[in-house]
Amino acid sequence: MKKRIAILGSTGSIGTQALDVIRQNPGLFTPEVLTAQSNCHLLIRQAKEFSPNAVVIRRDDCYQEVADALKSYPIKVFAGEDSLSQIVEMDSIDLVLNALVGYAGLKPTLTAIAACKNVALANKETLVIAGDLVMKQALKNRVTIIPVDSEHSAIFQCLTGERYNTVEKIFLTASGGPFHGKNKVHLMNVKKEAALKHPNWKMGDKITIDSASLMNKGLEVIEARWLFNLLPEQIEVVIHPQSILHSIVQFIDGSMKAQMGLPDMRVPVLYALSYPERVSSAFPRFSFKDYPQLTFESPDTGIFRNLDLAYEALHKGGNMPCVLNAANEIAVQAFLEDRLTFLEMPDIIEKCLQTVPFIYQPSYEDYVDTNTDTRHRAVEYIRNI
Ligand code: NDP
Ligand code: MG
Repeated sequence: MKKRIAILGSTGSIGTQALDVIRQNPGLFTPEVLTAQSNCHLLIRQAKEFSPNAVVIRRDDCYQEVADALKSYPIKVFAGEDSLSQIVEMDSIDLVLNALVGYAGLKPTLTAIAACKNVALANKETLVIAGDLVMKQALKNRVTIIPVDSEHSAIFQCLTGERYNTVEKIFLTASGGPFHGKNKVHLMNVKKEAALKHPNWKMGDKITIDSASLMNKGLEVIEARWLFNLLPEQIEVVIHPQSILHSIVQFIDGSMKAQMGLPDMRVPVLYALSYPERVSSAFPRFSFKDYPQLTFESPDTGIFRNLDLAYEALHKGGNMPCVLNAANEIAVQAFLEDRLTFLEMPDIIEKCLQTVPFIYQPSYEDYVDTNTDTRHRAVEYIRNI
């Protein structure tokens, strides 16, 4: 039986790589649902190639174009935000791959869990915003959250066969991004074109900026806290510019396990889709000759302040990681539109963390309100900067 997969965000970086994995394993997987925000052309092309049961286009004004293009195909077409989360309830879906970017990923994850579907999670923002709620619901419904993020996939793989209470700490590796080693004077004037040039990974714009500012690693610390039920003190970030060791677990006996390989997101995607099986692939193999040196160093949080802000939000708990995420989404968008400089991004996030009212044990509605409130404040702070 082929595994039937709903790919939320099939037109993005992770989504297209997941379809590549499926293309190479037609006997194992089939896309049951494909979704996009506004990229109708690619969604239509993907639908014609893979014949899913249904497609969802998030923007209502794109519906007609997609429906017209697919009218002679036996493919259901839906539009809108509600359809995007409701679609994951379809009986015929075996696994939901959430490759949406940002806050938009939260509701579909919760709907998938409520419908007792296992989730392959690339959308780290889901766990940053509401990790407690998501993991509690997953436990209650016996749903497995399989990480797609390369670092978390690495930890997940290292933990296979181990008992949970034998973990002392984990090391999340970070490439350092395109501005690794640069000083504040340099960063004062950097533009989006430079920030979008990641040395090792080709990814969507938002995560690429997050990687350059180290916010991506901050978000990943919070993601790891919830996925692996760790204390903040048990999670350490280490800069590893070659991106070969994807992350490391240190056990209570001092032994360490790392998962390594070339930086290619199709590997963790394939693992997440095939879990608990491991299947063969023809992806390029690592050669020690190409990497005579693997190096490690501490992050410079004096320059890249976002990492400390993420730890601060994690320590405070409650709705603060949700504030961090919302403020960051607005700051990144403003940076991409040349309305905010690179070094001003942490200022906006810090101000939101200081001013948004704290909620100790937020409900889903509290997270929705915190997200909206923080976005309004961040927009205002950027306007007045
Ligand atoms: P992209 O921006 O490349 O793709 C995002 C996808 O989501 C696209 O299909 C896009 O549609 C759709 N989308 C965007 N906004 C919305 C919205 N508001 N509602 C519905 N759909 C939306 O992102 P990435 O693939 O790079 O990243 C996806 C997630 O995976 C992120 O959370 C990221 O942090 C995580 N991740 C990504 C990695 C990577 O290598 N790219 C590595 C590790 C984690 P459209 O094309 O129409 O705009
Ligand atoms: Mg990652």
